Amino acid sequence: MHRFMVAPANIQNDRIILEGDDLKHLRQVLRIEPGDTVFVFDGSGIEYEAIILSMDKFRAIAQIKATFQNEAEPQTHVTLFQGVLKGEKMDLIIQKGVELGVHRIVPVITNRTVVKLNKKDSEKKAERWSKIAREAAKQCRRAYVPEVTEPISFDESLLKAKEFGATLFLYENEGKKCLKETLKCYTINKIEDISLFVGPEGGFTLQEVENCKDLGYDIVGLGKRILRAETAAISVLSIIMYEMGEISI
Ligand code: SAM
Repeated sequence: MHRFMVAPANIQNDRIILEGDDLKHLRQVLRIEPGDTVFVFDGSGIEYEAIILSMDKFRAIAQIKATFQNEAEPQTHVTLFQGVLKGEKMDLIIQKGVELGVHRIVPVITNRTVVKLNKKDSEKKAERWSKIAREAAKQCRRAYVPEVTEPISFDESLLKAKEFGATLFLYENEGKKCLKETLKCYTINKIEDISLFVGPEGGFTLQEVENCKDLGYDIVGLGKRILRAETAAISVLSIIMYEMGEISI
């Protein structure tokens, strides 16, 4: 099942235009020819089954045979607010987060974020991270590509979190509130839009935790072991998706 992501502008009436890297891959690697079937999505959640009508070295034209809502999308929308991590750790979180069904990823510059990004770096990083999200969506057969925004400040992220039905804030020194109990009340109250905060390598400061407490966010612990940020983000995303019934056939 060959899947391609195209820009919405390349879908015109019942025709789809494939060009650029996709065309090269289609012709030279997959050896697809006129008459073959391909699946195309534009990142919004709709998927198209199409037949290749013609191709040359500039473009391939396909005719839409069927249009359908992609069924891989979770009903629960989780936005991950992730303290920006060094090196390729963000790449891992983005790729695994997309596979697990994350809805959006917002990199956050917290007090202890080591990575310093100027405007240009932020734009470049966001572009690279968005490419990783696109590739992961293509691979795991999602037709919606989760947005990876440019990094924002911690204060901005707290304000944005107010828009959600619930906010889960992972803090390793939280000794009372646990994830299991907290998620149980989310399922009972059918909360479908959740924000999840995970700190950077150095964790959140006490002040950052207090600011979250003042806003009534759910500060939860994951037990006595200190997880790397990428482990915490990926495992808690998995747990949320499982508890909300999104890891199912
Ligand atoms: N302050 C930590 C330490 O003492 O090494 C470092 C932070 S940890 C590497 C990165 C992030 O993962 C934390 O900010 C938190 O969001 C999450 N995390 C890791 N272990 C956790 C735990 N046991 N309970 C809750 N959150 C945890």
